[in-house]
Amino acid sequence: MPLVNLKPVLAEAKAQGYAVAAFNPVDYASMKAMIAAAEELNAPVIVQTSAKTIKYYGHKALAGWMRELAADSPIPAVLHLDHCKDLEMIRGCIENGWTSVMIDASDQPFEKNLMLSHQVVDMATAANIGVEAEIGQILGVEDDMVVPEEDSHLTDPAEAERFCRELNLAAFAAAIGTAHGYYKGEPKVAFDLIAEINRRTKTPMALHGGTGLPKETIAKCIELGCAKINISTNLKHVFVDSFVDYHRDNPKDYEPLRVLGAQYEALKELFKAKIAEFGGTNRGSEVLARVA
Ligand SMILES: [Zn+2]
Repeated sequence: MPLVNLKPVLAEAKAQGYAVAAFNPVDYASMKAMIAAAEELNAPVIVQTSAKTIKYYGHKALAGWMRELAADSPIPAVLHLDHCKDLEMIRGCIENGWTSVMIDASDQPFEKNLMLSHQVVDMATAANIGVEAEIGQILGVEDDMVVPEEDSHLTDPAEAERFCRELNLAAFAAAIGTAHGYYKGEPKVAFDLIAEINRRTKTPMALHGGTGLPKETIAKCIELGCAKINISTNLKHVFVDSFVDYHRDNPKDYEPLRVLGAQYEALKELFKAKIAEFGGTNRGSEVLARVA
């Protein structure tokens, strides 16, 4: 079916108490593995491209692959733009068929962030697609943007309330103690803050830095209102390791399609495990009824 808008997908997930998995693809095969994993589980899925990946392939190639993969599949898939500060890149996504975009102006003062996010909401609403926006800077490295510990600060719930009321977002990203990349120690997730933000904004929250969070932490975040969970670092490691491992185990095999096949299967298993862990299994048809 055609790609779907993020907003009703997350509204449904939040209402039913589960989260939709969002993965950052790096090529056509990883996108295909995401759709196949979601299909095998009858689940919705969010395919989210980083700005870096769009710069590498161009808008048209990525949108073309995704439109074809989604059209051939019965499950609801969203094509989303992850963390982006560049309004021209966002415009390019809207014009080329993305069904959701993230404006990340979280490094700006609150009023400027609100104004920039408002511009994106206006553009996206005209195209009938969803928007994710962020306040508070999430710790770690995302797409070559580094947020060191001294710059990251937890989101202010009063600001979150005003931000969400004025923007009517599909997803709200907040700094709640998670981080991009692998965690060095035990992550200190601010559950009380998630609960307060959820109570004040009533907006589905996007959980960034999902890689490496313990299952109980993820379950609690979902219970408190997180309806989108981002997995990127995990995917990068499986992508590289599965390729290297295949060659180590089969040093004489130089048939590229077999190597790629091993990589595809490893990625698909990761995607299925995460979709199932976040509660997406057998939710595809309900979401379809909502977006139809
Ligand atoms: Zn992120």
